[in-house]
Amino acid sequence: MPGLEKNYRFDTLKVRAAYDSEKHNYAVSVPIYQTASYDLGGTARAERLFRFEELGWRYSRGSNPTVNVFEQRAAALDGGTGGLALASGMAAITYTLLNLAENGGRILSSPWLYGGTADGFKKIFPRLGIHVDTLTDLSDSGALEQRITPDTKALFVESVSNPNGVIADIEALAAAAHRHGIPLVVDNTFATPALLRPIDYGADIVVYSATKALTGHGNLIAGVVIESGKFPWDNGNFPQFPEKHHTLRTVDGRPRNILEVFPDAPFTSRIRTDYLAYTGAALGPFEAYLALVGIETLSERVRKQLENTRKVAEYLQGNEHVAGVRYSSLPGSPYFELAKKYLPEGAGSIFSFGLQGGEKQVETFIDAVRLFSYHVNVGDARSLIVNPAKTTHGELTPDEQAKAGIEPNLIRLSIGLEDPQDLIEDLEQAFAFTFD
Ligand code: PLP
Repeated sequence: MPGLEKNYRFDTLKVRAAYDSEKHNYAVSVPIYQTASYDLGGTARAERLFRFEELGWRYSRGSNPTVNVFEQRAAALDGGTGGLALASGMAAITYTLLNLAENGGRILSSPWLYGGTADGFKKIFPRLGIHVDTLTDLSDSGALEQRITPDTKALFVESVSNPNGVIADIEALAAAAHRHGIPLVVDNTFATPALLRPIDYGADIVVYSATKALTGHGNLIAGVVIESGKFPWDNGNFPQFPEKHHTLRTVDGRPRNILEVFPDAPFTSRIRTDYLAYTGAALGPFEAYLALVGIETLSERVRKQLENTRKVAEYLQGNEHVAGVRYSSLPGSPYFELAKKYLPEGAGSIFSFGLQGGEKQVETFIDAVRLFSYHVNVGDARSLIVNPAKTTHGELTPDEQAKAGIEPNLIRLSIGLEDPQDLIEDLEQAFAFTFD
């Protein structure tokens, strides 16, 4: 990776990793390669490019220089050996799980998930022949391992769940998965690598909605898949990896498998050469450029947002109209110890609380806020408020909502970069409007 001959630290990587200006006309800012295709430079070179014997650009559905800097930079921040950027977080999750469980496999998942993920598992995946089993108590490793069948191809969790901040015990889950020869996939969207790097605790694949705190400005839709480079894909449980393919043949016609062609990044490369190539959820170069600009301030944003979040959460904890604050870094949270272990600086800037009353009070309260924006995104520089039961988790049935802890009186906040006192005063006037 250019520029990484030295073992640079996180904050250096976030502005420097994977970019060598000498190779880009000495441009200091990563250029936007706004091109669909690339000159193949002669038939002999084309042959080498298409046989992966020379790595270079062919067509921007599969790879693009701007997008590539983004994917390699994201991989560097998470300590991964390979990264793949996609057109959304949903594409990152979907392609990851298809790559693992294609041909009728099963996924064992936590139920504490973003509503779109949970509903996709229920609605779309079975149509594709993939079944997702859910297990509420992931901390009971006996029960967990009993649910792993010979067809189970991965464990899937959110490190900090949407919207209630349930913290996954990544080390224990990775150990359980590995005892059965399957990988642990972690959606690390809420934490970002600035607060938690799941690979450090044994996770094999990390996925992001890069729409959110990773890039931080609410101005793009993107996803990323990152691999640890450590999982043994030739362990017999994933025949799709050692299988030889004509499309991966050498210039002289010898078929190869993905492990031979991309030994450092076989997982993301297989998504690229199969699912991205043939179903096409490619990220555009302009979005990748915006993502790179956003990542440059990742640590600074996250730290200030943590500070603000703590102040707002503590304010809410002391409010008579609040029925419980679910922020795992607050003492008293059932996930406090896990948060201390995995997110010692703080469990991110998104949390939820119960409003006394029900749906009607929630609607009055949300309509009364003036500074918080009312919408479904999170991790933005601006503070956001939403009622998950009617929006982000509205796809779930009442029973599924109850199981996932999405009560009608639940409000989710994503805390931004404003002055925290202005945020607190905005909530204060909304409480007064709702209850006085
Ligand atoms: N994962 C989590 C935890 C999310 O909150 C979301 C979206 O809200 C997604 C994935 C999906 O990401 P995207 O909206 O970028 O497709």
